[in-house]
Amino acid sequence: MVRLSRLKRAFRDHSLNKGSFMTGEREHGAVSDRASWIEISADALRHNVAVFRRLLGGDPASRREAPLLGAVVKSNAYGHGLPLAAGVLHPIVDLLCITSAADAASIRRMEQLEGLEPTRLLVLGSVVPEEASLLAEVGAEATLGGGDLHEIAARLRSDGLRLRTHVHVDTGLGREGYHADEVEKTAELLEPVGDVFDVAGVCSHFANVEDVTEQDYAATQLDTFEQAASELEERLGRRLERHIAASAAAMVLPRSRCDVIRAGISIYGLWPSVETRLSARVVIEGDLPDLRPVLSWRCRPQVVKELPAGAFVGYGCTWRASRPTTIAVLPVGYFDGYPRLASGKAHVLVHGRRCPVIGRVMMNHMVVDVSGVEGAGTGSKVTLLGRDESEQLPAELLASWAQTINYEIVARLGSHIERRVS
Ligand SMILES: *Cc1c(COP(=O)(O)O)cnc(C)c1O
Repeated sequence: MVRLSRLKRAFRDHSLNKGSFMTGEREHGAVSDRASWIEISADALRHNVAVFRRLLGGDPASRREAPLLGAVVKSNAYGHGLPLAAGVLHPIVDLLCITSAADAASIRRMEQLEGLEPTRLLVLGSVVPEEASLLAEVGAEATLGGGDLHEIAARLRSDGLRLRTHVHVDTGLGREGYHADEVEKTAELLEPVGDVFDVAGVCSHFANVEDVTEQDYAATQLDTFEQAASELEERLGRRLERHIAASAAAMVLPRSRCDVIRAGISIYGLWPSVETRLSARVVIEGDLPDLRPVLSWRCRPQVVKELPAGAFVGYGCTWRASRPTTIAVLPVGYFDGYPRLASGKAHVLVHGRRCPVIGRVMMNHMVVDVSGVEGAGTGSKVTLLGRDESEQLPAELLASWAQTINYEIVARLGSHIERRVS
């Protein structure tokens, strides 16, 4: 009985504390120290925003104002934790981009709790009927990208609401959006629903900026976008806010910046790709933008022990000790987002030293070889991603071991992992 009520209390504390927006702090005892945690550097996040602001500049000579900076905080802020990231970014960017009404509502709740002025929220993708009214109610802006306009309009009408929207034009990604060569038809579709949709912007998304160092395809998309945007503006009889650039295009294709940029990965201090970094060297005058990774992922070993020569480690007995070996068992596995594909290739950092991951990454565990790392014990801090002393373990490296990209590594970090601001 006693045990049960203690469990209940721990569970209640745990759920309550999940809602502490700005700090992500939880009460002691609610979360086990046995689990891994993620450290978010608020300074790095602010620094990256400043880097982008500088890059976007604004040109006094041509009186061209700098584009607005939209920070993309979809997918739990690329795994960084929506409440933490949105809390830091809220006062220093012009809008927050998300992909669901649930995220819009939770940001509005955060604003209320923290006494912040409501910021602009832009929901990417194509708005769905179920979410339209909630978005209008919380004053978010939505994207019209080919969903059922009549059904969406009917819901808004019956709720007596009007939704601010951006028309997404498909210029060659083949995802959401109305065909660029069907602007006339799109405008006709929009006419009868003009009472509930306030069309304020026109947008698109690039298909092939990050994978290449020449921007021919992107330039074609951009031409198509500009043409379609002008046609739509003409049809609607007013100027629309234009946006097409994500992180990479904003850096390597200045013409794409338009009125707003929607920067995701770079705000978190990661380069969209090696190709983008190379292109940026050519395109950007002066130093390369100094992006600083925001996220570190750490844990402490559950067990540190000696294995004799000849002992096996992990499922499938894929690793065998050729000499007496000190192993550390880490409370991290593929459930948490550590890729199983990295088995046998990856390393972690302990006391600033590289320690190879041995055997297979398991659901909740992985094993590393800490032989020769002086003082390695259960109290040692282990770095799975991030910096430790003079060594760095970037998301790109873990991505290369797992045959994927840095985006997937961070976005898949389990939402159950505790995030702390450091
Ligand atoms: C995810 C996304 C972005 C951000 O892309 P990054 O490469 O992370 O900067 C921008 N626009 C749209 C439509 C997106 O889906």
